Amino acid sequence: MGGTFDPIHHGHLVAASEAAAHLGLDEVVFVPTGRPGFKQHQDVTPAEHRYLMSVVATASNPRFTVSRVDIDRPGLTYTVDTLRDLREQRPGADLYFISGADAIEQILTWKDAEKLWDMAHFVAVTRPGHRLSVDGLPVGGVTTLEVPALAISSTDCRRRARAGQPVWYLVPDGVVQYIAKHGLYRGLHDE
Ligand code: NAP
Repeated sequence: MGGTFDPIHHGHLVAASEAAAHLGLDEVVFVPTGRPGFKQHQDVTPAEHRYLMSVVATASNPRFTVSRVDIDRPGLTYTVDTLRDLREQRPGADLYFISGADAIEQILTWKDAEKLWDMAHFVAVTRPGHRLSVDGLPVGGVTTLEVPALAISSTDCRRRARAGQPVWYLVPDGVVQYIAKHGLYRGLHDE
């Protein structure tokens, strides 16, 4: 499950749970991005905060884990490197790369895109009614899964935190407390 997770919210958690149930997965590994090359012009919360919020959010689910591969790898984050690292750590595992449809729609522009299809299956989680629009994907290359809880978005959570509005029940309780404790998102400019 790849994402910036800034912050992780219940939409991500429901999407992970739905994907696991639908595809019969043994484990969902949340992989917060390290330095997303495609977001160099945006404010992204330091990786260690995003990692720790992901740990807090997933702690109670024995099938959910959080990986540091993207955070600990020097340089910009590319999915081809994420999948290579995860394959080394889990030899023989059948990998599914789950992420938001808006992100997966750009997959043909990603680094070494042609190699990705042999490294994992791809799962695009969407809001109901959103149609995946990618020309040129291999047939059956991407599975689409509708998840109503993805009406929640990280952008909205950040806006609410900045405006002093509650994020209770949009993100797990521990993440509400983590955001308050560290004063995250308070100094953000309008997005
Ligand atoms: P993003 O542009 O921040 O997100 C695009 C959309 O997808 C947003 O609506 C976002 O909602 C949603 N989304 C992102 N991750 C999700 C998830 N795990 N579950 C459900 N919805 C999700 O995308 P991103 O977070 O930066 O990137 C997503 C993944 O694609 C990361 O693993 C990243 O490394 C990878 N990626 C790789 C390349 C490359 O290799 N060149 C390029 C781009 C992205 P929220 O904001 O609510 O999460």
